Amino acid sequence: MLGKYDVVVIGGGISGASLLYTVAKFTDIERIALVEKEDEIAAINSHHTNNSQTLHFGDIETNYTLEKAEEVKEGAELLAGYLENADPDREMHSKRSKMVLAVGDEEVEKLEARYHDEGFGDLFPKLRAIDRDEIAALEPKVVEGRDPNVEMLALQTPDGYVVDYGRTAKSFVDEAEQVEGVDVYTGTEVTDITETADGFTVETDSGRLESDVTVVAAGSHSLQVANEMGYGTEMSLLPVAGSFFLADDLLNGKVYTLQMKKLPFAAVHGDADVHDGSVTRFGPTAKLVPTLERGRLSTVGDFFDVFGLNVDSFLSYGNILADRILLPYVLKNLVYDLPEVGKRAFLPNVKKVVPSVELSDIERAKGYGGVRPQLVDTEAKSLDMGEAKITGDDIIFNITPSPGASTCVKNAMQDTDQIIEFFDGEYEFDEERFRAETIDNFPRETDSETDSESSSESPSEAPPSPAS
Ligand SMILES: Cc1cc2nc3c(=O)[nH]c(=O)nc-3n(C[C@H](O)[C@H](O)[C@H](O)COP(=O)(O)OP(=O)(O)OC[C@H]3O[C@@H](n4cnc5c(N)ncnc54)[C@H](O)[C@@H]3O)c2cc1C
Repeated sequence: MLGKYDVVVIGGGISGASLLYTVAKFTDIERIALVEKEDEIAAINSHHTNNSQTLHFGDIETNYTLEKAEEVKEGAELLAGYLENADPDREMHSKRSKMVLAVGDEEVEKLEARYHDEGFGDLFPKLRAIDRDEIAALEPKVVEGRDPNVEMLALQTPDGYVVDYGRTAKSFVDEAEQVEGVDVYTGTEVTDITETADGFTVETDSGRLESDVTVVAAGSHSLQVANEMGYGTEMSLLPVAGSFFLADDLLNGKVYTLQMKKLPFAAVHGDADVHDGSVTRFGPTAKLVPTLERGRLSTVGDFFDVFGLNVDSFLSYGNILADRILLPYVLKNLVYDLPEVGKRAFLPNVKKVVPSVELSDIERAKGYGGVRPQLVDTEAKSLDMGEAKITGDDIIFNITPSPGASTCVKNAMQDTDQIIEFFDGEYEFDEERFRAETIDNFPRETDSETDSESSSESPSEAPPSPAS
């Protein structure tokens, strides 16, 4: 047997890692284990090449309602605060300008309404509405080659955190491992979880663990494990793979386009790479795939486990894909991964951000990309936005499409509260100390440091905002 623990966390991506950090450092729970099937922490969706490296606050994501933005904002501030505190040398993140861009009367009107009338300007005091000249000062390539008669507007903020979620996950694990009673098992795959009279037996390919409380933070696989244990049977997954295209040095910060309503995956955007500002990344694409992990045929069987192969699942997929916005979008996205043709087909998406870009400027980023487990409600026969949490008896399952990485610390906080409740008050969560190491370090609009900081980074980083 590998060991007996109060809490076992399964999955060493950013979700499992942030939970390990929170429980180990800010509670008095004594024995905690993390089990990860890969040899490395954060090798799947949390790896920096596999996601869009955006810390989503809800300010430039125009598919979020105000309510959703309020929810995501606190999560983003918790993680941003952790990064400000733990990463002064910017090894895990960069901070650059970020904007959402409206082009043409219709888009400009929509963005103006969002900012002035729908409450986004009030919710995000650092967000500014900027015109063509100010856009050009921050992102010259966004304006270069664009018809001067077409109206342009952007909502811009200096809070453009670009995050290497993989390194951040490793930093959470490193901090947790310094606490006595914490064990981390990498290269160890969980094969079965069985409920026992006083907890769970967690079988792995390297031996057995016993736990009082278990948290499954295994990305898409969380639903597979939940289903095996009889939980979440009214849910299925639509796995959506995302790829990226790379170009040289086109953007200084993040530039999002306006989101198409109804699409749960982020609109195509461009941004400078977290570690190398001279590389600009465009994407992600959104291709339906029958796998739970990118490029791993071994997970096709796992997909069919969560699909369920029942009438409700087929009807749900049929209903979702019959949508007149989603279907053409999905079909178009099938092409983007094809050699040569794909690049050509994707080019108009890049041109929306950088009009002067040529075909020869972009290359498909080989080996980049992950799979977002979009949730399907098989009772309502509809696609759900965002993440899902299933809470059972002494067990939690987290299924985490975007913005799961952005909200990882908030999720960890909620799970820690739930774990304390499972233990009936036997242990305590020191939330004050937790906040002191996370959200309390997030620079507020009154902190003059913010703008000067974004200008003090590497030359590739955005210049200070013109209004500052
Ligand atoms: C293309 C794309 C773009 C995205 N962009 C963003 C973005 O810009 N911002 C954002 O916030 N989010 C984004 N996301 C979502 C984000 O990547 C995920 O929400 C986040 O990485 C999920 O973290 P996780 O730890 O839950 O899952 P993962 O990182 O997938 O980790 C799950 C871990 O569980 C392990 N595991 C699975 N099964 C087992 C088992 N049986 N035993 C042991 N271990 C197991 C896996 O090996 C893996 O390491 C994006 C996702 C994609 C695919």
